[in-house]
Amino acid sequence: MPSESKTAETLVETPQRLSALREEIASGNVKAVELASRYYERIAALNPVLNVYLSLSKERALAQAGRVDGLAAKGDPLPPLAGIPIGIKDVLVMKGAPATAGSKILEGYHPPYDATAVTRLEAAGAVLLGKLNCDEFAMGSSNENSAFGPVRNPVDPERVPGGSSGGSAAAVAANMAVGTLGTDTGGSIRQPASFCGVVGVMPTYGRVSRYGLIAFASSLDRVGPFAGNVRDAATLLGVIAGHDERDATSSAAPVPDFAAESDNPAAGLRIGVPAEYFGEGLDPEVRAAIEKGIQALKAAGCRVQPVSLPHTRYAIPTYYLIATAEASANLARFDGVRYGYRSGRSESLSAMYRHTRDEGFGAEVKRRILLGTYALSAGYYDAYYGKAQQVRRLLAEEYLRAFAQVDALVTPTSPVPPFKLGEKTGDPLSMYLADIYTVTASLAGICGVTVPCGTTGAGLPVGMQILASHMNEATAFRVARAVEAAKV
Ligand code: GLN
Repeated sequence: MPSESKTAETLVETPQRLSALREEIASGNVKAVELASRYYERIAALNPVLNVYLSLSKERALAQAGRVDGLAAKGDPLPPLAGIPIGIKDVLVMKGAPATAGSKILEGYHPPYDATAVTRLEAAGAVLLGKLNCDEFAMGSSNENSAFGPVRNPVDPERVPGGSSGGSAAAVAANMAVGTLGTDTGGSIRQPASFCGVVGVMPTYGRVSRYGLIAFASSLDRVGPFAGNVRDAATLLGVIAGHDERDATSSAAPVPDFAAESDNPAAGLRIGVPAEYFGEGLDPEVRAAIEKGIQALKAAGCRVQPVSLPHTRYAIPTYYLIATAEASANLARFDGVRYGYRSGRSESLSAMYRHTRDEGFGAEVKRRILLGTYALSAGYYDAYYGKAQQVRRLLAEEYLRAFAQVDALVTPTSPVPPFKLGEKTGDPLSMYLADIYTVTASLAGICGVTVPCGTTGAGLPVGMQILASHMNEATAFRVARAVEAAKV
């Protein structure tokens, strides 16, 4: 066996920092093709248990890895993600690869184009391994709503990895990719990252293009990275962020060097602790871990102060009105004509639509379409959707007032540690309440990072959520680096 293959094997067994891995590839110590092959071997071994990948893009990945090796052999300068194996949540499209969004209704759909985030990763040298399992149309908090079966949490396979980007979080936790992309509409990056003990980033709304994202709730959807450490997550965000003329909501704000910014110490930053995120329903072990994290921030020189966000209690109903309303509009396009699955029972056009949607969508997606259609219907629009928009505005203003006093807010990411598979599937309301600490920032459009912050007595991961104002991801990264360095 050639020596480089041994090196690649070792690198896959012990997760490496992205920058170190890139050095190995640039120096020719490790071939990108060999590294990708080792990741595929690891995926083949672990996927039957964890159910993380829905499809693999081997041909495309190995061709890209070969290009990187060619550049390295010539001694050419290498792009920032040269040869780095990355997984993509299956709500982002890749040309020619199946795109399921975790749903049966997209069966057989092969999109003819790449999402902008995918294009940017590949232009930066990343090797895209395949598409990752998720809740159907990103609706869920446990990955149990996938039409292709749940993902298991690598920390404890009897437990959920969180959702909806459960595959993206589990892939990083099990080192089935060095980094991944997920999406966050109401917590779907932050909560699974927290459940699997990895770093997850919800960028500011507009920071990353949504072009090529299968939409759930367009005013809330964000694309963002997962990684094993804060600096790697910052590097990935730097690659995918920035204006895109194909997404009218994408921002023209300049993109800082997030990785370099994250190297700045957190000392002197003002940190707010909102009382409303530490109330009833918070698991005592999660609370204790987050309190240790807050002590660590004080020790790192942060100035910690209490803040109050009294409207927070309206966030769950507001989110579940707005998100379902937008989903009911976005999902109207899946009618058996334009994409994927079509029912065989099509005695008339309207029967074909009905049967296709009845057979193609899962229970949670149907529930959301019903809720959203109701909230938007004439006669109820003002009382539900209109009111929710007003409350959304109040929630955003409340954060803005807090950010006049502090640089970042810290909270638990989830009120509870990862729960058991099946534990909440019979009770949609208790599943919705799992999002209690994440949905408010989604409604306000601000950014957030979740970073591992200790464990429970049983060894289950706890995540700290760090929220910062619009376009202030760099501040959230600095705070996250301090928590990470403290090894709570
Ligand atoms: N769990 C939330 C929901 O089910 C958030 C999902 C998401 O962020 N995509 O809507």
